[in-house]
Amino acid sequence: MRYVSTRGQAPVLDFEGVTLTGLANDGGLYLPEEWPQFSHDQIAALRGVPYPELAARVMAPFTAGSLSQDDLLALCQQAYGGFSHAAVTPLVQLDEQHWLLELFYGPTLAFKDVALQLLGLLFERFLEKRERPLTIIGATSGDTGSAAIDAVAGRKNVEIFMLHPEGRVSDIQRRQMTTVSAANVHNIAIAGSFDDAQAMVKRMFADRALTDTLDIGAVNSINWARLMAQVVYYFAAALQLGAPDRKAAFSVPTGNFGDVFAGYVAQKMGLPVERLIVATNKNDILARAIRDGDYSVGESHATITPSMDIQVSSNFERLLFEANGRDAASLAAQMDGFGSSKTLPLDPAQRERIAAMFSAERATPEQTLEAMRWAHQACGEVIDPHTAVGLHAAREQNALDPAVPVVTLATAHPAKFPDAVEQAIDLRADLPKRVERIMEREERCETLPADYDAVRDYISAKATH
Ligand SMILES: *Cc1c(COP(=O)(O)O)cnc(C)c1O
Repeated sequence: MRYVSTRGQAPVLDFEGVTLTGLANDGGLYLPEEWPQFSHDQIAALRGVPYPELAARVMAPFTAGSLSQDDLLALCQQAYGGFSHAAVTPLVQLDEQHWLLELFYGPTLAFKDVALQLLGLLFERFLEKRERPLTIIGATSGDTGSAAIDAVAGRKNVEIFMLHPEGRVSDIQRRQMTTVSAANVHNIAIAGSFDDAQAMVKRMFADRALTDTLDIGAVNSINWARLMAQVVYYFAAALQLGAPDRKAAFSVPTGNFGDVFAGYVAQKMGLPVERLIVATNKNDILARAIRDGDYSVGESHATITPSMDIQVSSNFERLLFEANGRDAASLAAQMDGFGSSKTLPLDPAQRERIAAMFSAERATPEQTLEAMRWAHQACGEVIDPHTAVGLHAAREQNALDPAVPVVTLATAHPAKFPDAVEQAIDLRADLPKRVERIMEREERCETLPADYDAVRDYISAKATH
């Protein structure tokens, strides 16, 4: 498979290339040159297939040319063998219409493990022959950081620098990052917001002084391999609910637009997806973009769903590119305008194409807590606040045919956000035993100002050249 940049000026790469690159050097994001197609019969043949094998079959067209089918399957078996649920991403029924897709059985208790456990292995695999390590630089609103660190800690030929907004991630999220003692792991707390941290990381990818001396890689969802791995569980859920003969809708708690974009990819590949519901908290730039065609940066708010406290959703660029018929030149102009004005009006064709597949819904804190109460009282399920934002959005979709099952992606384990859970249902969710230990371990973290030069110089000094 060949991969092209949304802005059309970066080299075309193969799967190994996009996995190791992250952001394209023209500032764009990589996408496959074309969407692989699965026929009705090919999808039907995936029913009942164990998750690692399903993963290998769904991802095979994307990795073709860089990995053999056997190698891909072996990596999937290794990545998903460590999950603490035999189904890897089990589906749980709430009522006649609503379902939860539980994505938090990986080592750091959020859905990001599903992609990052595989990505860590892909890095190791592709870096085997290298002399200089890959320096991963990332920004996290909480869950990417811990999942990425777990995935690469102690691995050969790779080191990681992870930026998080100081005081804006939960204690457990922070400890999952800062208590990892492997020498190739570096945590940096930024005195600023997630958007400040993400903007710095993006700038580093374009900073020649840095990229000339370091091989920089990405673990944020700008990395194509992450989105690819997330496509798999849309297949897994839809197959359980009767695909390819029955459609399903998905409600996705959204921040950087990676997870929900994976649902779009699944639909492009032939999976019968009725609708994708983009669920946001008070940071509702995506809801405004999808409903009103107005993608403009608002103020960043801290909420009880910190992993979604994002204003600039990197992966939305991928959808804008798809929705303008893959016109890279016009997309590049649109993104340039957005870079300077912080506002981007969607053109009518983009609005129309996006509205055909996506809906958007925003949840207030009270609605979020109410969804947690409903799940607990009516269905006996304890859910985390991010999942609750998704569930609220799912239950607001009155226009959907009630015969279409609506799957809310359960993106984090409730024990990761104990305060919000307690506030909603007066119950303290227990941390699984294998995570409990982090509460006693020593933390390791550097605090830096939200100043680009300071952060770049720190990384440059610490990194292996
Ligand atoms: C990262 C994250 C999200 C947002 O996912 P995106 O792919 O960034 O849209 C939602 N919920 C949780 C728990 C997360 O960790």
